[in-house]
Amino acid sequence: MKRFIQLLTVAIAMTSMAADASAAIKVVTTTEDLAALVAEIGGDKVTVESIAKGYQDPHFVEAKPSFIIKLHSADLLVVVGRELEIAWLPPLITQSRNAAIQPGGRGYLDASQNVRILDLPTGQITRAMGDVHPSGNPHYWLDPNNGRIVAKSIQTKLTDMSRGDAAYFAQRYDDFDKRLAEAEKRWKAAMAPYKGLKVVTYHRSWPNFADAFGLDVIGYVEPKPGIPPSPAHTLDLQQEMKQKNVKILLVEPYFDLKTPNAIGRETGARVVVLLPSVGGVKEAASYIQLFDYDVNLLVSTIKQTGTR
Ligand SMILES: [Zn+2]
Repeated sequence: MKRFIQLLTVAIAMTSMAADASAAIKVVTTTEDLAALVAEIGGDKVTVESIAKGYQDPHFVEAKPSFIIKLHSADLLVVVGRELEIAWLPPLITQSRNAAIQPGGRGYLDASQNVRILDLPTGQITRAMGDVHPSGNPHYWLDPNNGRIVAKSIQTKLTDMSRGDAAYFAQRYDDFDKRLAEAEKRWKAAMAPYKGLKVVTYHRSWPNFADAFGLDVIGYVEPKPGIPPSPAHTLDLQQEMKQKNVKILLVEPYFDLKTPNAIGRETGARVVVLLPSVGGVKEAASYIQLFDYDVNLLVSTIKQTGTR
């Protein structure tokens, strides 16, 4: 352990020197979605790295010493918020010994400010009940309009940090906004024939996506967000899927396909591994490419079911 701390100290000293050599704002994000949006707005005035990879479950990321080193030298940390990262991020921030990126600091941006949050709790919900969404649904970036709002928050923050680049960030935001608006027309047109289509999802990752594109999510493989499937719940779900003729089951790439495949065999539903994040596969390298990938895959699978 002592040797590890020595190595860490040396590494931190080296990255601090490297930071001085570059004028670009060093941004660390918790997810690749946020990194993609930072890159859209920041262009060559920033460097950006994500802690979690797009194919990982963002609720449960294994904390590595290299993350502490990245955070130590960061000028800005952008987080999803709404307790998405609560199981792994707070100790990393504390151990980074970087005052700027502590919650509330100048170099800390909670991207959930201003976005549309669904599944807001009405009664008292705590994590003790096993629910990993106690503060509303944290998968809000899967509505393209929320992506636009996050991009605006990033623009505002980068402008605060580098006033001289205000026009540059504004121009990049306008360009992104325009490309996103064109893409949204394309996605909505592709999804329009399937308005109201009933689907089931593994985790509760898709309420904002469903809302944006007109899907009706009628149930989940997880009994509660973050709780693994149970035989009793699976039986109930299969019953409901048969009654409602549900032919699409969306699964995030980081879950075991055993239960979804069994449900698919029992109900005749197609199991689709849809990507909740940029970087889930290499074709989904940007925020717009993520939706291109998901909408194309979803539409082609719906067509295969022959329900519409
Ligand atoms: Zn979740």
